[in-house]
Amino acid sequence: MQNPHAEYIEELLEGLNEPQREAVTHGEGPLLILAGAGSGKTRVLAHRIAYLIHTDQAQANEILAITFTNKAASEMRERVERLLGHATRGMWLMTFHSACARILRTDAPRLGYTRQFTIYDQADARRLTKRAADAVGVDPKRYTPAALNNQISAAKNQLRDAAEYRSTAAGPFEEMVADVYDIYERDLVRMNAMDFDDLLFRVVNLLELFDDVRERYTEMFRHVLVDEYQDTNHAQYRLLQLLVGGGRAPGGGEGEGGRPSYAGPIGHRNLAVVGDDAQSIYSFRQADIRNILDFQEDFPDARVVKLEQNYRSTETILSAANAVIANNRGGIAKRLWSELGQGEQIHLRGLDDEHAEARYVVGEIERLLDEGAARSEIAVLYRTNAMSRVIEDTLVRREIAYQVIGGTKFYERAEIKDAIAYLTLLANPQDLVSFTRIANSPRRGLGATSLARVISHAQTLDVPIWEAAASPQEVPGLGAAAVKALDRFMSTMHELRELSGEAPIAELLESLLSQTGYVEALEAERSIEAQGRIENLEQLVEVGREFDTAAAPGDGGLDVFLQEIALVADADTRSDDAGLITLMTLHNAKGLEYPTVFIAGCEEGVFPHSRALDEGGLEEERRLFYVGITRAMRALYLTYARRRAVFGASTIGLRSRFLDEIPAEVLDEPLESVFRPGLGSIGRRAMHGAGAGENGAAAPGAWREAARDPTGPVTAYRLGEDIVHAGFGEGVVTGVEPGGVIVVRFAADGSERKLMAEYAPLQRR
Ligand code: ATP
Ligand code: MG
Repeated sequence: MQNPHAEYIEELLEGLNEPQREAVTHGEGPLLILAGAGSGKTRVLAHRIAYLIHTDQAQANEILAITFTNKAASEMRERVERLLGHATRGMWLMTFHSACARILRTDAPRLGYTRQFTIYDQADARRLTKRAADAVGVDPKRYTPAALNNQISAAKNQLRDAAEYRSTAAGPFEEMVADVYDIYERDLVRMNAMDFDDLLFRVVNLLELFDDVRERYTEMFRHVLVDEYQDTNHAQYRLLQLLVGGGRAPGGGEGEGGRPSYAGPIGHRNLAVVGDDAQSIYSFRQADIRNILDFQEDFPDARVVKLEQNYRSTETILSAANAVIANNRGGIAKRLWSELGQGEQIHLRGLDDEHAEARYVVGEIERLLDEGAARSEIAVLYRTNAMSRVIEDTLVRREIAYQVIGGTKFYERAEIKDAIAYLTLLANPQDLVSFTRIANSPRRGLGATSLARVISHAQTLDVPIWEAAASPQEVPGLGAAAVKALDRFMSTMHELRELSGEAPIAELLESLLSQTGYVEALEAERSIEAQGRIENLEQLVEVGREFDTAAAPGDGGLDVFLQEIALVADADTRSDDAGLITLMTLHNAKGLEYPTVFIAGCEEGVFPHSRALDEGGLEEERRLFYVGITRAMRALYLTYARRRAVFGASTIGLRSRFLDEIPAEVLDEPLESVFRPGLGSIGRRAMHGAGAGENGAAAPGAWREAARDPTGPVTAYRLGEDIVHAGFGEGVVTGVEPGGVIVVRFAADGSERKLMAEYAPLQRR
């Protein structure tokens, strides 16, 4: 019988090499594609999905395809739709977190949550941790909520609950974390809320506890595919194992080599994973590289496909990548090659300081644009978010449109979080964190003491906070003014709650912003800052409006909206606007490719990062460098600054050891960049100092503007002062930090930026 899609399938397989085709057409059972960067792993996944559907091995809704970010998911969806020639309705193509949130929207009641449970982001989770830490009596000066929460998060990613954590706690620190973990966990459950790590953990619980639920999902997802498998952690690993059957059992009997042997449920085992051990860069989130290295032990009958041809980069770029990664011990030997020719050499430049570096980078960008490159073809990568500022300033001055992935995020702004907290409380009346956040925002005379009384009253009665707040006269010790204020607040909330059942999100938002007096309070402030906040809120209403228009009938509920918002990850603001230069951290660049890539800040202590060096993470830093290099298709620029201002202090920068791992013959490095008087003999450790003797020849590169003279007196700015920035326009100083750093909120877009007062092109108004 001839498959009606035969012709189409032939076409689908045409654009693939032999091993890629083998992976795409692999039938049932486990499949591991292990290959270096740019060898077409993601492409194989997309083709395999199309192939499964066209050969009738699976319906769209029987496929679960996991990607690392929402952005990667939408790119994958586009690719699959292009291959299929139609929309991928019903296909679960998303991140682990989104898939888990969706499963829990259906099945969380089995675990005692309601379907409207709240998802707490990192900041919420830290706030809740702080409450727990206060209750335990932890010294806040010694242990920050962030540090405590990291411990809890790490435990959850290893599927260790509070009781289990306590059972293995060694020493007073871990005992204390166990106490905090206990309370934190109890509070989450009481509030019908989950943090990000819970999304995975609870689904694992669900599948482990209820055979019928597990069987339902195993049957539903006949094929499970995972991209970037090298960055999965134990919870994600266990989840996959439960869904498809097979693999290691948790803490089960020890198998060979110290690995637990398998004794889990049986399933179809249709699991296809792709990854590259050389690109594993998330161990700080408990990613476990063993998951990919031991896939064959978990699934002894797995088909293993290796891909070695790289279709992305020139030979020159690949020899740099190969040479760098060869310095890591272990790992699976792979040598990438490509047919794209030698191409141009890699440009390596040492510049006097970070401003000169930014001018060089932007100067080269201008040259490329003049030669006809599109802005969307260029990316600038760096190790930490803070490094984007100087490059941004320079781009703004040259009027080059750019975007920053993972910078100050819209959803992290206070007013946006307030508005979302209002919505969250409407959806989930048990949500104490949201209640605490907004009860007195805007100010309505409900001080911390009054709120504490209401909260403890709710806890004594063991009722939702909403219920306790709704009868303020019954709260012991609450003053008459507070009773009145709370009464008024709750009657507004009741009205909004009724509205929330029927009105579209945009309308609900507008009503709540006006009825709660939120916008009115901002208007009364009459400041630029408040104006920016109002504009941000208008943006949020716009987000709601877009959601209202896009949502399918019956799928537009408030909790779906809140869920979508909670899951917007850092890397997801990247727009496909052809007209923007992209700036982002190396971590965010995973899986992406650009014709031209700049990696800035290649200095010891910056990259490799000093903290990673202290913690013995050099090899992971090197993998990150490998990821960075292999994003480039045709041109790669590596730059370092000989002096860099870090928190106001000038730090002497030494070129990164990684640069010296690249074979000299692929580098284009001007002589003066190599021989710098007074620097050659200093060891490989960043030195702190005033940058003496740093007046060598100007670095090469075309820029038209002279360096700013930083020798003038440091201008002291005061909080609330109005300023004008040459690029960003009018703003107000909202923070003054040590080392000459000021925080400015700009009127034009409401953005808040940290600037070096000494260097930024600022004037008082
Ligand atoms: P990374 O490890 O960085 O995630 P990857 O292995 O997932 O990389 P892809 O992004 O799938 O690689 O592919 C890299 C580039 O090579 C893409 O532009 C892709 O379209 C192209 N490519 C892959 N295989 C082929 C092929 N057989 N023919 C033509 N182009 C290909
Ligand atoms: Mg990929």
